[in-house]
Amino acid sequence: MTLPARAGLDAVPAYRQGRSAPAGASKLSSNESPHPPLPSVLHAVQERLGGINRYPDMSAAALRAELAARYEVDPALVTVGAGSVELAAQLIHAVAGEGDEVMFAWRSFEAYPSLVRIAGATPVAVPLNAAHAHDLDAMLAAITSRTRLILVCNPNNPTGTVVGAEELERFVAAVPQDILVVIDEAYVHFDRTGTYGAGIELFRRHPHVAVLHTFSKAYGLAGLRIGYAIAPAEIAENQRKVAVPFGVTDLAQTAARASLDAEDELAVRIEEVVAQRDRLHSLLVDAGWPAVASQANFVWVPAGDRTEELEELLSAGGVIARAFPGEGVRISSGSIEDIDRVADALVRKEATV
Ligand SMILES: *Cc1c(COP(=O)(O)O)cnc(C)c1O
Repeated sequence: MTLPARAGLDAVPAYRQGRSAPAGASKLSSNESPHPPLPSVLHAVQERLGGINRYPDMSAAALRAELAARYEVDPALVTVGAGSVELAAQLIHAVAGEGDEVMFAWRSFEAYPSLVRIAGATPVAVPLNAAHAHDLDAMLAAITSRTRLILVCNPNNPTGTVVGAEELERFVAAVPQDILVVIDEAYVHFDRTGTYGAGIELFRRHPHVAVLHTFSKAYGLAGLRIGYAIAPAEIAENQRKVAVPFGVTDLAQTAARASLDAEDELAVRIEEVVAQRDRLHSLLVDAGWPAVASQANFVWVPAGDRTEELEELLSAGGVIARAFPGEGVRISSGSIEDIDRVADALVRKEATV
């Protein structure tokens, strides 16, 4: 006897989490913040712990009102989810199903292909260009009558490359308005090219744009699961229909609001992560690895058939990175100590050659 399984699930790969690190090692495999939570955020969360017998405010009204005021948009256009990966799922479920296509660049965020397949839609992966960046012309050329949604991960995970604001606007303007363009800005705070915030501006100027932001990366709340989307009204309304009820806890909403109040403190931390990212890139280049300049909180090394070698070199030095076999290694930017450790690991290699 076999238990039932939904048709098509064979094609859905299970999400692979970044490797956990043994005690004492540097976990640079999941693009998390290397910093512990801010005391003010911890305090705010602790104050709410006594209320966990109650369901959260499903509409997250207070947080959405704050975000709406910040971006000067109607609160009805703001939705929150258990991480922006849930919001990406909501957006896909809101617009695409059987027979529809959802496009993204590849390689990009590992969750995209699965989310599309789970919705019953067909993933269309358009290869990145030689500079490891979105090939927007190729993406335009890949649009068909079945395309419903296009994801643009900016900066791109795992390559750290950015589509400039003007280039992105030309792309959005060229995409037919019956296709939703979702700009995933999970790493926008680490971008020093000036493209920062391009998604929201495009949302204002074009009727078929949605933007995804998360509290997991720059705000350091990966463990609490909260992010938000800003989307056109009819899309946001349909997102609410496909959302799993009560997915975002009161603790997560509280931590998110406290983090918005602590942005000056967080900015200092973000600058440190950016500085260590650039240092990480230089260390890799100096050691002869083909590292790509990054605008996110990680560095991509398209090591090809030397991927395993680099992963093992790092791991021997107590650094856990994210390897994509045969393609490359993504190393998250960490604390100064974490990147010191990468420096030592890379040098050890030179000593043994
Ligand atoms: C990390 C990440 C997210 C968000 O993750 P959540 O923790 O679910 O908010 C979204 N998109 C990309 C590209 C990411 O790398």
